[in-house]
Amino acid sequence: FDEAIDAGARQRERLLDDLRTMLGAPAGDASDDRAPAGRVVAHFQPQLDADGTASGVEALVRWDHPDLGLLQPVAFIDLAEEHGLLPELTERVLRQAVTQTALWRAHGHDLRVAVNLSASCLDWPRLLDVVDDVLDSRLLPASALVLEVTETGLVSDAVHGLEVAAQLVDRGIELSIDDYGTGYSSLAHLNHLPARELKLDRAFTRRLLDDERTATIVRATIDLAHELGMRLVAEGVEDEATLTALTAIGCDVTQGYWHSRPLAADDLTAWLDARALTRQPASGPAPSAR
Ligand code: C2E
Ligand code: MG
Ligand code: MG
Ligand code: MG
Repeated sequence: FDEAIDAGARQRERLLDDLRTMLGAPAGDASDDRAPAGRVVAHFQPQLDADGTASGVEALVRWDHPDLGLLQPVAFIDLAEEHGLLPELTERVLRQAVTQTALWRAHGHDLRVAVNLSASCLDWPRLLDVVDDVLDSRLLPASALVLEVTETGLVSDAVHGLEVAAQLVDRGIELSIDDYGTGYSSLAHLNHLPARELKLDRAFTRRLLDDERTATIVRATIDLAHELGMRLVAEGVEDEATLTALTAIGCDVTQGYWHSRPLAADDLTAWLDARALTRQPASGPAPSAR
């Protein structure tokens, strides 16, 4: 048992070393295979409007580790957070997300991109500089950039968090409240946070069809979002029945495995291109009158 704990601790030590090495090295090119501790890679999951248009993507961090393969956030996010490394990680995700989305837009895919900001990133002194630098590159209009913050993130230092949020919105960036419904004082946040979007937590999506109370909460939340001028995004949509139900009750945007898992940029390019093709209005003469 002790040995197992030891092995776990050693594994974390090693991951932390690798994380520091990776983040200490210059960001480099995504095709640079020599990075000794691997590299940060943004994957992307599409978000679809009610009419089926792909209107956005969420960037989700992965760590391409030389020995361990592609690591999901659950394997390293907490470690990065504990050791103050999340801002460095997020900066890389943000830059990849903006660059890649600019490419998609140049190829006719009119997408927003959402990047996750944890609590420690809101407290990060360089956040506004990095955001300004990204916007100065003019790859992407500010209105196409969404920053997802969680309610718990805002609770940690409410006043400062709200100030930073206001400054981001001043720049034309959209804010989204991620994992909505699972944090504290949700209603206070709705009142004070200048967010454009509510992202209903997957826990609600999952129970929508099986639990009448959940369905009532989801319907009321959609109405609330709309009354406040916000769009509602449902995350974790895994089946067609849930998608149909969400669309029927006015959910604006859906995201989940039913549409697509998070994909590497090139794979999402193929997904977007294939979808655009199949969704194009049929060519040829217009159908004659009935
Ligand atoms: P999140 O922002 O709530 O992201 C949604 C998570 O749900 C993602 O997990 C996504 O892959 C997963 N997901 C999407 N559709 C479905 C579905 O239909 N069913 C199920 N069961 N899951 C689905 P992932 O990529 O493992 O990310 C987990 C969390 O890690 C994210 O939750 C976010 O809080 C955090 N995270 C990811 N990337 C970043 C980042 O760049 N920066 C920061 N600070 N946090 C990040
Ligand atoms: Mg998110
Ligand atoms: Mg979420
Ligand atoms: Mg969630």
